[in-house]
Amino acid sequence: MRFASTRNHAEQVTLSAALERGLAADGGLYMPTEWPQLAPSADPQDLPALALQLLQPFAAGDVLQHELPAIVREAFNFPAPLTGVAPGTPISRETTNVLELFHGPTAAFKDFGARFLAAALARLPRERALQILVATSGDTGGAVAAAFHRRERVEVAVLFPQGLVSPTQERQLTCWDANVRSFAVRGRFDDCQRLVKQAFADTELRERFQLSSANSINLGRLLPQMVYYWSASLTVQRRFGLPACFAIPSGNLGNATACVWARRLGAPIGTILLAHNANSTVPDYLRDGIFTPRPSIATLSSAMDVGNPSNLERLNALYPDAPALGGALLALSVDDERTRMRIREDFASQGRIWCPHSAVAAEGCARVRAASAAAGVWSVVATAHPAKFREIIEPLIGRPVPMPAALARLYERPVRCEQIEPTLQALKQSL
Ligand SMILES: *Cc1c(COP(=O)(O)O)cnc(C)c1O
Repeated sequence: MRFASTRNHAEQVTLSAALERGLAADGGLYMPTEWPQLAPSADPQDLPALALQLLQPFAAGDVLQHELPAIVREAFNFPAPLTGVAPGTPISRETTNVLELFHGPTAAFKDFGARFLAAALARLPRERALQILVATSGDTGGAVAAAFHRRERVEVAVLFPQGLVSPTQERQLTCWDANVRSFAVRGRFDDCQRLVKQAFADTELRERFQLSSANSINLGRLLPQMVYYWSASLTVQRRFGLPACFAIPSGNLGNATACVWARRLGAPIGTILLAHNANSTVPDYLRDGIFTPRPSIATLSSAMDVGNPSNLERLNALYPDAPALGGALLALSVDDERTRMRIREDFASQGRIWCPHSAVAAEGCARVRAASAAAGVWSVVATAHPAKFREIIEPLIGRPVPMPAALARLYERPVRCEQIEPTLQALKQSL
């Protein structure tokens, strides 16, 4: 299969070219040019086998085609369980379920995409080292750093807004050595994102390095994320004979785009709800029909503090205006106060500890579920482990959040980080 820019369908590239470039030359984002109807026969619980069947059509004809079995084995080496809302209970059609995406090395869903991208890029032949630039509002940087750490011929620079990520996230961004460097940018996430964009447009840097991005604009992050939506929706369909509906904590819309793509490829998915925090650009766009990007506002769910979501361009490529998009999905905004209440309530009544992002989706799901119950069986997509945000969660639930073993290991590593001003000049000097 070939991939085309959202802005120009004439120029089409292979999978490996799309992964390596990140952004298309015209500034657009790569999209599949075909939507085959897929009917995977693999056990939905066997993620590597399922991923291989689902992703094969996208690698067909590419140099990565024969590497795909090894890539999916590396990327999908931890589970994405679908459980009842009370931890350890089975799924049910009457209540909300939980798709747990936080069992990877940095305890956030971004591990799936980052590990797939790293495993794929590591297998591509190249003459010069690849320089990965990644702007992060918290979780992306940790997942990308962990996935690329100590890979040969790949250098990684992680840019995060100084003082605006949680202490646990900061730890995950700065505990690396060798080929991974972390930069605390004196600015906001939008400054980090702007710097990465400017670096890509800079001729001098492009001569010095082969630049690539590992942000969710990269196709290699999105394709693997379709796999857990297939896994969960096939599980629901086999169990109840109904479509699966998902409430997705959303920021830059990479996770949501993967869900929309999975549905388009034939996954038994019903309603898709984009749950945003106070950064309500997308819900406002669907309501008013006018897209107004704005600077991001800091909230409890910091990985979703995005005022101008990049992947909206991909959603608009399939659904060109607000009425069309509004027919394909729902979107709403949840403030910090309701997020805190949801965390307290669901811990008290179910024993479920949400991270702040997942709590936004849990609250959103509670709002729409009654009206949309006929559409299928609802699940909240739990995007991060609550221990990553224990500074927020512990005061709300009044007890410590147990630390998963993978996160605890990161705490044993020494910290390494450089501070830079939010200018291209400062970044160029540091690279
Ligand atoms: C990145 C992130 C999100 C938002 O995902 P997008 O793909 O940017 O919409 C939600 N929750 C957590 C925990 C994240 O790290």
